[in-house]
Amino acid sequence: MDALKSSRLSVADLFPVRSGVRPVEMGPMYVGWNILPRVGEACQAAGLAGRAVVGMDVNTQKAAGDAVVSCLQAAGYAVRSILIGPADGSRFLSNSNLSRWMLSQCDPLPDFFVSVGAGTLTDIVKYAAYLVEKPFAAVATAASVDAYTSNIAAMVDGEVKKSLPCRAPAMVLADMDVIAGAPPDLTLAGYGDTLAKFTSCGDWVMAHELWGEAYQREVAVATFQSARELLDRAEAVRAREPKAMELLMRGQLALGIAMWLADSSRPASGAEHLVSHCWDMLAVREHTLPAYHGYQVAVGTMQMARLYEIFDREHVWRDGVEPVREAFARLGRERQTALARLGADPAEVGKNWESEAALSHFRQSVSLVWPQLRDKIGEFLVPVYELEGAYRRAGCPVEAAAVGIDPATAERTFLDARYLRSRFTILDLFDAFRPLSSAVAEVVR
Ligand SMILES: [Zn+2]
Repeated sequence: MDALKSSRLSVADLFPVRSGVRPVEMGPMYVGWNILPRVGEACQAAGLAGRAVVGMDVNTQKAAGDAVVSCLQAAGYAVRSILIGPADGSRFLSNSNLSRWMLSQCDPLPDFFVSVGAGTLTDIVKYAAYLVEKPFAAVATAASVDAYTSNIAAMVDGEVKKSLPCRAPAMVLADMDVIAGAPPDLTLAGYGDTLAKFTSCGDWVMAHELWGEAYQREVAVATFQSARELLDRAEAVRAREPKAMELLMRGQLALGIAMWLADSSRPASGAEHLVSHCWDMLAVREHTLPAYHGYQVAVGTMQMARLYEIFDREHVWRDGVEPVREAFARLGRERQTALARLGADPAEVGKNWESEAALSHFRQSVSLVWPQLRDKIGEFLVPVYELEGAYRRAGCPVEAAAVGIDPATAERTFLDARYLRSRFTILDLFDAFRPLSSAVAEVVR
């Protein structure tokens, strides 16, 4: 069978959910070996026509960008390429200003955009395409992120890390020869991010059960399964074995689709991501570069998995509970301090108990439902030792120091992450019963 046709995947191939889930309009996706030369045909099959602008950086230009440009030209497209980021090839962060700069270089506007890169490049180009309401196609260069198909562009906007809107891709192409040849850090970061789905789905079902947040069990289960498949393949990912690399890439595409299906980033992002966002913002303020997203998330995932484990093992919902009056006063103080430090808008982070009575009522409801709730959350969590073992075998960091975060900063982040978004997570659950600081020594390593 033709290599391009046989590598073509639909939403249903990647994400087998059936009922009760809203449909997602996504162009064809291709995951296969040596399919980059067919990128022109793939764009044609997606109905893309006219003039294209291809966004890349100097590294992805070598890896795939030049080939994409010449293949598109050979297929009859008028193509312009725009180089984004430092000329010396050093790393940079996705920033909404770069999307606007890219648009300023497009005169006239193209009929569609093509990103050639991993998370940073994809986010910059897809946000630019969104701003001018043009389609975009993604040529992936690493299995590091879910950005190719996700429903947000995660970017620094001002000094704050935001989830900006975007369109679904008109076409995604992942040539596994390119993906397997990506820098090893990017592949391992992708592995770090993939295993975060255990805690993100745990947080999601908890927020649903305790706060009635919208939740699709089918989406959560399929998301969990794609992460579960990779849990035992740590060595294979590290060795970049073809089968494991394909699974990793397909898992990233599936995850982006999950976010569209859920109409939320919930399946992909829980407290472990809030921690990573705080570290990104810290780096922006200090004019440094943060560690790779997936590496930070691996550390965040370990922390949240440990926190869940302590909550359950020590019966935090029942034993050693902080008196309600003290807890309510402390929560108010900590919230103010964290919001001031983050520069966050208190209206956006409404998460708070309105009164001592409300906090007390919340605790009572948790105590009542915890035996059932722990089983529902436990469906998604894997034991800490298993998670840590997989990360270590893959070569992912599991401690804050390994992503350049000292213990004092890690402890502070732990509290700030709770107030970065209105999203309810294990951080909030724990903090309602005992100060998070009481768990820091064991959780933040
Ligand atoms: Zn992520």
